Amino acid sequence: MQFHSAEYIFDGYQFLPKGFVLCIDDDGRIVDIVQQEIEDAKHHTGLLMPGMINAHCHIELSACKGIIAKGSGLVDFLISISSKRNLFTQEAIYEAIEHAENEMLQNGIVAVGDISNGLDSLPQKQKARLHYHTFVECFGLLDVNAMERIRASLEILKHFIELHPSSLVLHAPYSVSERMIAAVNEISGGKISSIHNQECDDENELFISGTGSFLKLFKFIVKDINFFKPSGLSSLQTYLPKLSKPQKLILVHNTVSNEDDIKFAQALHNQLYWCLCPNANLYIENKLPNIKLMQALNCKIVLGTDSLASNDSLSIVDEMLTLQKYIPSISLADKLKWATSNGAKALGIEHEFGSFEVGKRPRIINITNVKSENELPLKPKVSRIV
Ligand SMILES: [Zn+2]
Repeated sequence: MQFHSAEYIFDGYQFLPKGFVLCIDDDGRIVDIVQQEIEDAKHHTGLLMPGMINAHCHIELSACKGIIAKGSGLVDFLISISSKRNLFTQEAIYEAIEHAENEMLQNGIVAVGDISNGLDSLPQKQKARLHYHTFVECFGLLDVNAMERIRASLEILKHFIELHPSSLVLHAPYSVSERMIAAVNEISGGKISSIHNQECDDENELFISGTGSFLKLFKFIVKDINFFKPSGLSSLQTYLPKLSKPQKLILVHNTVSNEDDIKFAQALHNQLYWCLCPNANLYIENKLPNIKLMQALNCKIVLGTDSLASNDSLSIVDEMLTLQKYIPSISLADKLKWATSNGAKALGIEHEFGSFEVGKRPRIINITNVKSENELPLKPKVSRIV
């Protein structure tokens, strides 16, 4: 048995009052949390918190770090990434993925919701050093080859499902055909799903009026863009009614989701998770979502890093620091909750991860130079206790 106390303990939901001690077995499982003096307790400076959950990553894109200019906007980003991601040798891709996973471990991340288009991340995930939920992503603009593309994605899914929980998901509202949405919706019954949502104003413009920069993306992918018919509604309000079957749905980015969108979505689906990837939003669009609005509407918020193609680091602490810098009125306790217990619930792993509760094995992270319950230090020193 081990006993750990600290200046600050965040249990996944709130800061505990002073004087609490975590009692854990040699396996790292929480046996008890008591408010009493224990002589052999190891006292840590700074903060103890559960391991962090990265709810949205694309580890397979790790070799693409730094190859796309910041502030290019989503459409140019997507065009660049689809041509540049194939420039690397298989060896360089594997090496970058291993390096990225090491970075996440060092930064206190213990579980990842990871998007995969192919099998590049499989060898690293086989080592099971982090908990993963792999979201195998399909996309394709035309109905005519939707089923063929879904079958190919299901073949990829088979490999990941042998390792850990995994599901088939849609990439984004603007990159999938009607037939693909309907088929993936059927396959998603009772499962955890994910979709990139409302990343920029042009995404809404496409669905509302059929205009804007996404037509350039369509022309890059297919010659004849007459297949697309605008709905007159925002992106979210167009696709969400057709994506009714997933038990949980992680909406990623939400950079331009407004009050109407959020209320519309909440009326349709009761297990929505709103994933913020602030550093990626600043990298691609130089814009952040209306997070205060999300809080006011009781959105269940989680945090993700997105990929190294659109971020300088894979660190949930860095995402929290960016929120602290741009929206200082968000409390540290709220951010820590998004990074831990909310993320664990989104990935369906709250029985083990995300909070200090008896019976769980959430891993214990120490940020040694935390000096208050109100803010993170600018250069946090993160280490793993268990
Ligand atoms: Zn993403």
